[in-house]
Amino acid sequence: MPFYRLKTGIVHMKGSRLPSPCAARVLIDGKQQVCLAPSGYLCDGPPQRQGASTCDQPMCEAHARQIGPNRHLCPACYLNHREADPQRGLFTSIV
Ligand SMILES: [Zn+2]
Ligand SMILES: [Zn+2]
Repeated sequence: MPFYRLKTGIVHMKGSRLPSPCAARVLIDGKQQVCLAPSGYLCDGPPQRQGASTCDQPMCEAHARQIGPNRHLCPACYLNHREADPQRGLFTSIV
């Protein structure tokens, strides 16, 4: 039974088969907190712990970064993905 952050505040939802709360870090009132919105996506990025096949961070609509059909990354994996992407060099001009 997850806790969600909704407009009204933190809400404890009862029931099974509820989506995990979004794990993205956000600034709320100047403090870093976990987003906790009901998630609709799981991160498809590289696993952050052993034994996992993907990162699997739950993310809400606002924090999922789509990188392909049915492929989404959490904000942290998206940053790494962009840094590792050789295509990016094509768009940076040579100074
Ligand atoms: Zn979120
Ligand atoms: Zn991730």
